[in-house]
Amino acid sequence: MVTRLSLLDAAWELGPQVVADRRYLHQHPELAFQEENTARFVADRLRELGIETRTGIAKTGVLGLLRGGQPGKTVLLRADMDALPIDELNDVPYKSLNPGVMHACGHDAHTAMLLGVARLLGERRDEIRGTVKFAFQPAEESQGGAQPMIEAGAMDDPRVDAAFGVHIAQDRPVGTVALGSGPMLAAPDGFTATIRGVGGHAARPHHCVDPIVVAAQCIVALQTLVSREVNPLRQAVITVGSLHAGTVRNIIPEEAVMQATVRTFDEGLRRRLAERIPALIGGIAAAMRAEADVRYDFGYPALVNDPAMTDLVREVVRETLGPDKLIEAEPGMVGEDMAYFLRAAPGCFFFIGSRNPERGLVYGHHHPRFDIDDEGRCRSASPPSPARPCAT
Ligand SMILES: [Zn+2]
Ligand SMILES: [Zn+2]
Repeated sequence: MVTRLSLLDAAWELGPQVVADRRYLHQHPELAFQEENTARFVADRLRELGIETRTGIAKTGVLGLLRGGQPGKTVLLRADMDALPIDELNDVPYKSLNPGVMHACGHDAHTAMLLGVARLLGERRDEIRGTVKFAFQPAEESQGGAQPMIEAGAMDDPRVDAAFGVHIAQDRPVGTVALGSGPMLAAPDGFTATIRGVGGHAARPHHCVDPIVVAAQCIVALQTLVSREVNPLRQAVITVGSLHAGTVRNIIPEEAVMQATVRTFDEGLRRRLAERIPALIGGIAAAMRAEADVRYDFGYPALVNDPAMTDLVREVVRETLGPDKLIEAEPGMVGEDMAYFLRAAPGCFFFIGSRNPERGLVYGHHHPRFDIDDEGRCRSASPPSPARPCAT
């Protein structure tokens, strides 16, 4: 009979294969919507396991369908496959073979782990009540592959009752699982504002409209949106991360361009800031005789974990890894494409610790020296079942 602990035992056995798959994927990283080789690797593996497999979903997405031997509900498990435009600086045998592209966020691990789960469950299909969907999505880091996969029917036929996903967490100790319920990750929106003035000689400002001064006023005023217009019990971040204007010190330029990110959890607040930011910038520009053009970009929605599904994950972690491995996580302001799956079905997105200072594995996500402790299972304190020798 399949129990959580018997599955855990079987998972230990699959560890070396999962590590080998992760290192293969690490060596062959591909950027968003270009995950051709990765998708082929995933689809071949799913088909070997006898899992119904659809490819080419949202360009490079792969969807596996495992019909259990007994009737029941449908659960979707999701991994992302894309890498980042970074030159890897690690000196490891599995270093990226694709110059300028690197798995620096852990999506190689997510894909390898989900293939491990597909094997684990595929070999026990007769005992499974219901259906398991394996969603390997493209482009988490850029335009987003989740929404187009959902539009292509990933949540339908059979309708998904619950969805789960994981992310490697380099800020958490290896062997731990961190989670929380409710809004956990923010909606990562943003805008580009172009302020147009009148250029000229820097010593004759009265003949000009200086867009740099207008931009400076706008940046200061933007701080007041969060401090003066947002309920102090709600969270929002506005960060102007880029400001470009001018060439030399004795010319007033025609234009200043700023780019900013705006992060929120609450949908109402999100919409409100999307109205107030262009209004504020436009009003300040007009008051100072300049013109402003604001292009507002909506990113992923906020990621919200369902309390009941999060409790289920909590219970499984306590039972299989032990209560000392469970971390109650605070929400964070980064964004995640998984949010779309969790808007379409209740579920939980949680974090698996991968940091190990003893092995120098301390560099954060998107760093050219990012690497994870994929042998961490050997070093974490023994789970409730008998400790296994490390095979990797
Ligand atoms: Zn990332
Ligand atoms: Zn990521």
